[in-house]
Amino acid sequence: MSTLSNPEAEALVTSTDPHHPANHIGELCRNFYSHGWVTGTGGGASIRHGDHIYLAPSGVQKELLRPTDMFVMDYKTKEYLRKPPVLKPSACTPLFMAAYTERNAGCCIHTHSQWAVLVTLLCEQAGSDVFEIERLEQIKGIPAGPTKQGNLGYFDKLRIPIIENTAHEEDLKDSLEQAIKTWPDTGSVLVRRHGIYVWGKDVAQAKTQCESLDYIFQLAVEMHKLGLKWTQ
Ligand SMILES: [Zn+2]
Repeated sequence: MSTLSNPEAEALVTSTDPHHPANHIGELCRNFYSHGWVTGTGGGASIRHGDHIYLAPSGVQKELLRPTDMFVMDYKTKEYLRKPPVLKPSACTPLFMAAYTERNAGCCIHTHSQWAVLVTLLCEQAGSDVFEIERLEQIKGIPAGPTKQGNLGYFDKLRIPIIENTAHEEDLKDSLEQAIKTWPDTGSVLVRRHGIYVWGKDVAQAKTQCESLDYIFQLAVEMHKLGLKWTQ
């Protein structure tokens, strides 16, 4: 598969369908940029399309992504079927691959949301490597996990593991994989002083989960400022 001709490789990122991954990743990143999630080239997004993994490149302004900027990897061989000539693959790639492989994800999102970072700092101050919160309606926007059905309920506690940051993004891979194994139902992992990795079975589930989490993180920070507890 690594011997694709140039027209075959270009066909992978050429579609008039706005929901084709080559188009959809750019649209998602523009949306995420407006939330401050992928500012200053940080963060990223990836979509699985059959046996093809579409990945935004590294170090580019995420709100300006074009379909021709996308990397396409063969899920089975892990070889690139298409590489934009002047761009580098995202440092998030091994982390996204962990969610595809371990969780059969259909879409992965990585943000540098300030609310996510602040929550990890508050947990650090409390000596905790798990963010926990309960009795908020928006918790119902979070999938319950692969061993359960549907989403969490109002009376369920939301718990998200936090891993420690590393100097290089790709070096988070081992601790992210460990967190995925230790927490079989989590659909996200926070990275201390850095941001969050979120995945879902498809774009809609990953995106709505990411939005619900960011809402909850913002609320958690404001609750803390007001002296309100996250759990009973
Ligand atoms: Zn990052």
